[in-house]
Amino acid sequence: MKTAGYLIGGVLGLGALIFLGSASANRSLRHALLGLVLLGAAAFMIYLARSKGPEVKVTHKVDFTGDTELERLRCEACGAQLDSDAVEMREGAIYVKCPYCGTSYQLEEKPKW
Ligand SMILES: [Zn+2]
Repeated sequence: MKTAGYLIGGVLGLGALIFLGSASANRSLRHALLGLVLLGAAAFMIYLARSKGPEVKVTHKVDFTGDTELERLRCEACGAQLDSDAVEMREGAIYVKCPYCGTSYQLEEKPKW
């Protein structure tokens, strides 16, 4: 996005120079105004490109639906109560490894309604 901002700013600046040049050659007030507007737009684009915009951070948040869900989590094989240490995230799926019987399986994500 930064490069695009500089690019657009540069193009606008170039257009501004062309209009301003044409304005001084033809003594045209309209071209002078257009040139000034383009110059302002160019400055604004470069300002935007320089300033730190809101960077879109993609964070994969894992929602375990609170601790209450985990407290009720029991091993499929032996029925032992599992804590958060027994649960791990891998490739976006929740895996459970039972510390008591050693069974590991993928936990089906329950719908939240
Ligand atoms: Zn178990």
